[in-house]
Amino acid sequence: MMSLRLPSIDGVLRHPACAPLLERHGRESLLASLRQLLDELRPSVLNGQLSAVEISPEVLAGRVGERLAQQQRSHVRRVFNLTGTVLHTNLGRALLPDEAIDAVQMAARYPLNLEFDLASGKRGDRDDLIEGLIRELTGAEAVTVVNNNAAAVLLTLNSLGARKEGIISRGELIEIGGAFRIPDIMARAGVRLHEVGTTNRTHARDYEAAISPRSGLIMRVHASNYCIEGFTARVPTAELAELAHRHGLPLLEDLGSGSLLDLTRWGLPAEPTVRQALLDGADIVTFSGDKLLGGPQAGLIVGRKELIAKIKKNPLKRALRVDKLTLAALEAVLGLYRDPDRLAERLPSLRLLTRPQADIFAQAMRLQPLMVERLSEIWQVRAVEALGMIGSGSQPVARLPSAALCCRPQVSKRLRGRCLLNLEAALRALPIPVLGRIDDDALWLDLRQLDDEPAWLGQLPHLQVEP
Ligand SMILES: *Cc1c(COP(=O)(O)O)cnc(C)c1O
Repeated sequence: MMSLRLPSIDGVLRHPACAPLLERHGRESLLASLRQLLDELRPSVLNGQLSAVEISPEVLAGRVGERLAQQQRSHVRRVFNLTGTVLHTNLGRALLPDEAIDAVQMAARYPLNLEFDLASGKRGDRDDLIEGLIRELTGAEAVTVVNNNAAAVLLTLNSLGARKEGIISRGELIEIGGAFRIPDIMARAGVRLHEVGTTNRTHARDYEAAISPRSGLIMRVHASNYCIEGFTARVPTAELAELAHRHGLPLLEDLGSGSLLDLTRWGLPAEPTVRQALLDGADIVTFSGDKLLGGPQAGLIVGRKELIAKIKKNPLKRALRVDKLTLAALEAVLGLYRDPDRLAERLPSLRLLTRPQADIFAQAMRLQPLMVERLSEIWQVRAVEALGMIGSGSQPVARLPSAALCCRPQVSKRLRGRCLLNLEAALRALPIPVLGRIDDDALWLDLRQLDDEPAWLGQLPHLQVEP
């Protein structure tokens, strides 16, 4: 048997196919990748498992090029969220409006007055940049902003209740997304948990009986990702605030999603608004920037001036503060709320949440034949009505009437699971991965969020599903 020899590194490098790679990736990356490939191939060459063509400089250059392109591809990738959950925590929650994207670009590109007061020429406070707008939109006396709502809750509890007791209903000791559990956050904040009432019913007298000289605050948490129904009792915020104030305690309300406006005006399920919580007497309200607000990831803390001042003095505030890009985006998003009549056109999350079902269904009808064409005959593809969700713990039981492409494999029960996983994987392998959901022996592509139809259609020819 004739023994083949791998070309030398120089031999491959001199091949014309390497010139564009050198240009694109630089000498160091190209050499490292090439060396690695040759090392990997050496044993197979010694065993005579490769042909002369397989180890020609041209083919090797091609393989190195593929590797380099693969490595260069960003790990942060755009996807199509066709899961039916609009504010999907794992997929980045709210999409920013153009106004916010422009503001982020400006803040990224140029120096800015992040902590500099242009009027006086003195040092400024980054919260001042958005305080006026948030006060206007919520009626709060004062405001501070941190990295996310989990940070807002931690910072508030630690600032106002450390070494004291935090009184909270057993029905509100919630967990959000695994890592965020109210009892754990309280412990980390140095607040001793004093739980009152029962899972389904907590009365004013339960709170009252718990109050002692050790008490530091009363906390209320919005039940954002579950719902207690049936024989239940909950003290209204106004009554709880009155009770807290009678005993000289602050009432914190963690709203989670915290809408700034009443969503029912757009036909969406009612969510408590920040303004109403403050009107009811909550002293501090915390909520997320990237849930119903539709902005960047942030945690907003609003409420009474002297309490906000105390929170801002906490050294943890410095550790949890927001960056300039977030502040720039947040200000732009909040600015849109000054014109509620046009908000649903301009704020992407609200636009998607309010998209009419008929519109989505028409899109499903339009795309159905194209999907049929791409899939083998074992697949039945139908345009159907579907139910989506707001997501991110907003209205966990409410469903958004939507429409979907429902792809159902017409095979024996034994093979169905495998078929569905194959289709799911093929959709995920597209240049812009498409994420749907498997339910009831079918793969559902909820089209509520299919905004960029041309990009979706453009990559459909690449869809390759294993039989
Ligand atoms: C979502 C949520 C949080 C956490 O907010 P993040 O912005 O995700 O950190 C805290 N409390 C409630 C009630 C929530 O719904």
